[in-house]
Amino acid sequence: CPSGPALLFVKTSQGEEEGRRFYACSACRDRRDCNFFQWEDEKVSETRLAAREEYNRNHQPSFTHRQNVERYYNLRLLSINIQDCLLVVDTGSSLCNPHQFLSDISTAQLKSPSQLLHPLENKKTNAQYLFAERSCQFLLDLITDLGFRRVLSVGTPRLHEMIQSKASQEEDFRVRSLLLDIDFRYSQFYTEDEFCHYNMFNHYFFGGEAAHETCRKFLYQDNGESVIMVTDPPFGGLVEALASSFKKLMAMWKETEKEGHNNQEMPMFWIFPYFFESRILEFFPSFSMMDYQVDYDNHALYKHGKTGRRQSPVRIFTNLTPSKIVLPVEEGYRFCAVCQRYVSSGNQHCEICNSCTSKDGRQWKHCVLCNKCVKPSWFHCNNCNCCALQNHTCEKSDAGCFVCGKAGHKRSTCPSLSHT
Ligand code: SAH
Ligand code: ZN
Ligand code: ZN
Ligand code: ZN
Ligand code: ZN
Repeated sequence: CPSGPALLFVKTSQGEEEGRRFYACSACRDRRDCNFFQWEDEKVSETRLAAREEYNRNHQPSFTHRQNVERYYNLRLLSINIQDCLLVVDTGSSLCNPHQFLSDISTAQLKSPSQLLHPLENKKTNAQYLFAERSCQFLLDLITDLGFRRVLSVGTPRLHEMIQSKASQEEDFRVRSLLLDIDFRYSQFYTEDEFCHYNMFNHYFFGGEAAHETCRKFLYQDNGESVIMVTDPPFGGLVEALASSFKKLMAMWKETEKEGHNNQEMPMFWIFPYFFESRILEFFPSFSMMDYQVDYDNHALYKHGKTGRRQSPVRIFTNLTPSKIVLPVEEGYRFCAVCQRYVSSGNQHCEICNSCTSKDGRQWKHCVLCNKCVKPSWFHCNNCNCCALQNHTCEKSDAGCFVCGKAGHKRSTCPSLSHT
């Protein structure tokens, strides 16, 4: 389909053991954005294949990356020479948003595309949630304090922008960044060495082998310029598809190394909600979750707790040693000497679990019957034999999930639904 190779899914109906497998778009979970569909065992005729290829060609951006870059440099020249009226075309993603015209663009604005472009908030496909300045600055400070000199920014355009902007303004700032993102609008602002049109659900480089090579070159470390990958995927994204792509990026990093990294992994920050912890650890057992709450500008719910809003559930998962991830004391984080990591102010060390157990920043309480710490709002239910909200409806043995039959979740959150 236009987003590159499709993913193989399985459709299971209630009571059915084995579901039927089919291919669908990797990037668009909304059928209105891409309706590619094919049963795994379906025969596709030559004519249909040809029609499909034609369709894919027609659904690529109308300008190439190079053409966009040229236009951008012309614009920047113009904006320096004439402080007049300029026109930037917001071409939307490849998914044909209605075009919007902007005028009176300053040079400064051209350097901050994430502020200039409208975030694509289409929940199911792009879901662009931009870091709040505070969180973005924290990430960048952390990266530089840890001594990294190159950042592979996968779906983190605002971090990329902050790095680019510092690099152009401060002479002694030596960090470089390569942005990989599916939002082709960024090709209007960054050269082919700064941005690759990339799909992180199928590890697909739209720019083909040349773009692949750009990424490979970027990952190549010389003079001890170590690389870290930072990614902030759409939260509705399939964890196994993302993990598979990230493993391929990690493999690319490993291949570039001459002497070998002594069995190390490419350092990585995967930014994702805390309730995906077990899913992420399934694929990356070496990762741990940090307590730092990542805040967003355009996400009403995920803003900083202290502003009266709900606290953000978004965390940093990393394969770096947790004790090295220093969290800001002025925001209430403290170091737990036993756990050897920084934790939220409300996260108390539980003597029985021998760990700082809170996941959401609130103080959790230990339940001796469950033999673990649970959310403060939960109580032990003797019917269910576990802790739950006071006003929950007790699970009977036959009242499991509609899809998989297991207890503990509803059909909408069934883990088997997200299985590729
Ligand atoms: N907080 C980040 C933005 C995260 S929003 C920041 O401020 O920099 C998610 C990002 O992932 C968006 O930039 C979006 O364009 C990108 N994205 C969404 N689907 C993608 C896909 N399939 N492949 C690559 N990037 C994708
Ligand atoms: Zn602790
Ligand atoms: Zn406990
Ligand atoms: Zn309990
Ligand atoms: Zn109960």
